Amino acid sequence: MQLDPLGTFSRTHRNGELRLDHAGKTVRLMGWARKVRDMGSLLFLDLRDRWGIVQLRLDITDADPALVEKARTIRSEFVLGAEGIVVERESKNPNLATGDVEVKLTKLLIFNTAQTPPIPVEDHEGQTANEDLRLQYRFLDLRRAALQKNLYLRSEVANITRNHFREHEFIEVETPILTKSTPEGARDYLVPSRVHAGEFFALPQSPQLFKQLLQVSGFERYVQICRCFRDEDLRADRQPEFTQVDVEMSFVRQEDVQGVIEPLMVKLAKVVGKDVSGLFPRLAYKDAMEWYGSDKPDVRYDLKLQDATSLFANSGFNLFRAAADSNGQRRVRAIWVPGEAAGAYSRKQLDELQEVAKQLGAGGLPYAKWGKDGLSSSFKKFLEGDAEAQLKAHLGASGEGLAIFAVGTDAQTSKVLGELRQRMARAFKMVDESKFAFLWVVDFPLLEWSEEHERFVACHHPFTSPHPEDMDLLETDPGACRAVAYDLVLNGYEVGGGSIRIHDTLTQTRMFRALGIGEEEARAKFGFLLDALSYGAPPMGGLALGLDRLVMLLAGADNIREVIAFPKTAQARCLMTDAPSPVDARQLKELHLLKETPQTYRVGAVFFESAEGGNPELRGQALQQLGQLTPKQAQGLVTLDNQGQILEAQTLSGPTFDF
Ligand code: ASP
Repeated sequence: MQLDPLGTFSRTHRNGELRLDHAGKTVRLMGWARKVRDMGSLLFLDLRDRWGIVQLRLDITDADPALVEKARTIRSEFVLGAEGIVVERESKNPNLATGDVEVKLTKLLIFNTAQTPPIPVEDHEGQTANEDLRLQYRFLDLRRAALQKNLYLRSEVANITRNHFREHEFIEVETPILTKSTPEGARDYLVPSRVHAGEFFALPQSPQLFKQLLQVSGFERYVQICRCFRDEDLRADRQPEFTQVDVEMSFVRQEDVQGVIEPLMVKLAKVVGKDVSGLFPRLAYKDAMEWYGSDKPDVRYDLKLQDATSLFANSGFNLFRAAADSNGQRRVRAIWVPGEAAGAYSRKQLDELQEVAKQLGAGGLPYAKWGKDGLSSSFKKFLEGDAEAQLKAHLGASGEGLAIFAVGTDAQTSKVLGELRQRMARAFKMVDESKFAFLWVVDFPLLEWSEEHERFVACHHPFTSPHPEDMDLLETDPGACRAVAYDLVLNGYEVGGGSIRIHDTLTQTRMFRALGIGEEEARAKFGFLLDALSYGAPPMGGLALGLDRLVMLLAGADNIREVIAFPKTAQARCLMTDAPSPVDARQLKELHLLKETPQTYRVGAVFFESAEGGNPELRGQALQQLGQLTPKQAQGLVTLDNQGQILEAQTLSGPTFDF
C-alpha cells in the first residue's frame, strides 16, 4: 500500500476535545483507527489519539470515489491523518466525551498500516488477554485506556512528589547505579567488571549509604526518585527493579520525617478523590503483631486477634491445654467474626480455610461456630457445661458468628491468623474498598535471629538506630532491642519504611558486632561509612516509599505490573525483549566469566614441530574437525587450553608426551 508522508499536515485539534461548539469547523486530526464500520452507504471509523476518540463519517454516495476507496482499505490500528468538518450527530453517544459530534471526512492520509493486533487494544470491561501475551506485545497493551490511565497517574504522582519535596527545600541528588553491595538483606544483582578481572559491581538495593553520606556532606534534605534492584523471589507486589522515593534528612526525629511524608500522602490521595487528612495513627510493632498478626495490618475493618490461652488451662482438649502449660512459649489465639453469614459458614468453606491454614504451617483449623442451630465445633466435646459460655464471654461473642483458633508460637499463630483475618474480612465483605487507611507501624525490633545464618540479622538494615531506651540491650539481649524504625502502611501494604540512623562510629561498631560482623569485615565492606561517621556526621533519619506499590494502590490495581510500563514476569523475565538472554562466549571471556577448561580432541595423527607461528584459528578449526573423528578413526588425543596451546598429546597406541 502506498503510504502518505506526514509532509506539512498538522493537527488543529485533539480528538478527545471536539464538542458541539466546534460544529461547522474544519479540523485536522491524527491518530489510530480503532474501529471501521462499513454500512454500505455510510462508513464510520473511530479515530483515537492520546486525548480521546472521535467518530469520523463518510457518506459514500456523495463523497469523492477515490476517498471512499481509500477509506475502505483502512483496518484497525492504521495510523491516519484526517481532515473534515465537525457536525452534530444524529444519534448521540452519551458514553463518549465527543459523543455529540462526528467529523465528516474530506481528506484522509494513511501514514502507516498495521497488522491485526494479537491482543485486544480496546478496553472492553473485563476483557483482557492472557498476561503473557500482553507482556510480549506490551507496546500494544500500553495502547489500552486502562494502562494509559495508570501511567498518567504514575507521572502525576512523581510530579506532585517532586514538587512537594521542592517546596520543603529538598535537593534531588543522583547516586550511582554501579556500586558496591548494600545490605538491605536481599540478594544483589551483580555486574562483572571487565577491567578488574574477578571483581563485581552490585546494583543498588537502595541508595542507603549514599544518602547518609550526603548528610555528612551537609545537604540536610535529600530526595531522589530512583531505581533499586533486588534479586528476590517475586510476588504480585514485587519486581526485581522498582522505584523508590528515597528521602534523608539531618537533625530530625522520626516525627519530623513522618511530618514531611503525611502531607504528601494527603496530596496524592486527593488525586484519586480520597481524603486522608488528619494525623495518621501510630501502632507499635508489638501491638500490630498481637492484634493483627501482621506488621502491615489492613485496618479498614475491625477484626482483631485475641489471646484465649488462659481459658484452656484446665480443658480436656490436650492441644490447647498444652499451650496453656507452656509458660507463654505457645499460645492459643483466636479470631471472632460476628454475624449470621459467619455463623452459616459451610463445612466446605471451613475446609477451604483449613487448607490455607495448613499451607501456612498449621496442623489444622480448630473452630467454634454459632449458627441457627446453635454450636458446632471441631472440639465440641470439650465445650460442654460452662465451657461454651466461658468461651463466648472471653471472645466477647454474642449471637451468631464464627471463631477460628490457632495454637503455637507467636510467630506461627500470627502467620496463620494474620492471613485468615484478611481472607475472612474479604469473604464476609467487611472491607470498605473505598477507604484509604494509612498508619505508621513503629518501634520495630532492631534484630531478628536468622536460623539460616545462625546469627542476628538487621530487621531494617545495619545503620538503623537502636531505640535510646534499649541501647544497653545491644550486648545483653539483642533480640529484645527495639529500633527507631517505622513503616508506612496503607490498606495492608507496606508503602514505605525508614529509620533514624546511627550517626556515631561507636554505636555503629557495636551494631556490627551484634550482627556478627567483625572489625575486619566492617572495614572491608563499610570502611567509607565508618570513616564518614568519624568526620562529623549529623543526627539523621529518612525513609523510602515504594512508588510502584503506592501507585498500584492509588490506581486501584491489584498488581504492580499494571503500573509499570515494561515490567518483568513473576519469573523475572521480560517477555517482550526476552531478557535475560544468553550472551556470546567472547563477551563472557572479556568479563572473565568463561570457565577456562582444557578440551581434549581426538586426532587422526599427532605431529610435532618446533616452529612457532601458523594461524592459530585454522589450527583450532582443523583440530576441531579432527576432534569429531570416531574413536576408531582416531590415532591420538590432544588436549588444548582455551588459547589453543597444547597441554598434552598422546598417540592412542604409543607413548604420552607432556608439555
Ligand atoms: N533504604 C531503606 C529501604 O530501601 C529505606 C530507608 O531506611 O530509608 O528499605
